[in-house]
Amino acid sequence: MLIVMRAGTTPAELQRVRDALAELGTTAREIIGPQARPAFVVDGSLAPTDGARLTTLPGVDEVVWGGPAHHLASRSWHPDRTRIRFHSGVEIGGGDVVAIAGPCAVEGERQLLDTAIGVAEAGAQFLRGGAFKPRTSPWSFQGLGTAGLALLARARHETGLLIITEALDPGHVDAVAEVADVIQIGSRNMGNPPLLRQVARTGRPVLLKRGMAATVQELLLAADYVLAEGNPNVILCERGIRGFDGSTRNVLDLAAIPLLLQLSHLPVIADPSHGTGRRSLVPAMAKAAIAAGADGVMMEVHPEPELARSDGEQSLALSELPGVLRDVAAIAGAVGRQLAVRRPARA
Ligand code: PEP
Ligand code: MN
Repeated sequence: MLIVMRAGTTPAELQRVRDALAELGTTAREIIGPQARPAFVVDGSLAPTDGARLTTLPGVDEVVWGGPAHHLASRSWHPDRTRIRFHSGVEIGGGDVVAIAGPCAVEGERQLLDTAIGVAEAGAQFLRGGAFKPRTSPWSFQGLGTAGLALLARARHETGLLIITEALDPGHVDAVAEVADVIQIGSRNMGNPPLLRQVARTGRPVLLKRGMAATVQELLLAADYVLAEGNPNVILCERGIRGFDGSTRNVLDLAAIPLLLQLSHLPVIADPSHGTGRRSLVPAMAKAAIAAGADGVMMEVHPEPELARSDGEQSLALSELPGVLRDVAAIAGAVGRQLAVRRPARA
C-alpha cells in the first residue's frame, strides 16, 4: 500500500499517519513523493476498511491499494530522468547509449574470457552472461551456477567490464550481488514479487526484462516492486513479446521503447537477440532500438555461436560485434547521442 501526503503536510499530520499505522500493527517506509511530498510505503496489506480510514486522516492526499497504474516508476512521481552511475564513469540513462554484450550463458573459462576480451575491444561497457539460466526445458543446460559467477568475477577483473547477470532463485541473490554490477531479472521472473523484492534489497541496479506476455503496464508495476524497496536504480528492458508468427522467436515491440520513456523516468534498453531469435536480424533491430530512443542495447555474442550451449542461433559471432557497435554508434550520433565510453581496463 502507498500513502501519498498533500503538499505542506505538517509534522503532526505525519505523526498521525505513523500512529495509525502502528495501531494497525504495520510498519511503513517514508519516502519522498511527487513535488517533494512525503509518502509512505506500507509493508504487507491492510483490510480495505483500514485503508479507507487512512484516507480520512488530515494531510493524506491518496491511498493506493491496488489498481492497474504504476506510481513510483511514473514520470509524475519523479519528473527527472533516472541516471544510474557506475564506478567506471559509465551511466545508464545519462544520455549516452550503452552497449551490453556477452554470451547467453557462461559456459567455461575460455569461452567467457575470450568473449569478454572481444566485448571490451569492441567498445562495449558491460559484459552479460547467465550463470543461473532460466531454461524453458528442464533438459537443457541450466548454467554453471556459482562456478559461472566466479568466471564472471574474473572477466570483470581482467577487462574492467561491468557485469550483468541474472538472479533466478532467492537463495542465490547474495552470491549474484557480489559479482554483478547489475542484476538481471529475466522475463520469466518479471512477475515474481519475492524475487523482485529480494534483488531490490541488495541495492544493486536491477535490469528488469519484460515478461514475454506482459503488458507495458505490468512491466512498470514490476518496476514499482523494486522501487518500493527503496532501490531507485531500475533499467527496463524490451526483449520481445509472444506473437502469432513463428518467423521470429518474439516480436520486438519497438513502440514500447518510446512509450516506456514517456510513461516512466527509468532508463530503457532493448534486447534484439531475444527479441528476434535470429542472428541475422539483430544488427538491424539494435540500430532500430537506438533510433527509437533506447538508452542502450543488450546483445548475445559467442566466439563460436554454432557450439553455444544456449541461444546460439540468436548470438552474433564475436567477430561481428565491432561492426555492429560501429553502426549503433552511427545511429546514436544521428539522434544526437553517442556510445558511452569507459575508463581503460583495470588489469
Ligand atoms: C537472457 O537474457 O539470456 C534471457 C534468458 O532472457 P529472457 O529472460 O528475456 O528470456
Ligand atoms: Mn539467452
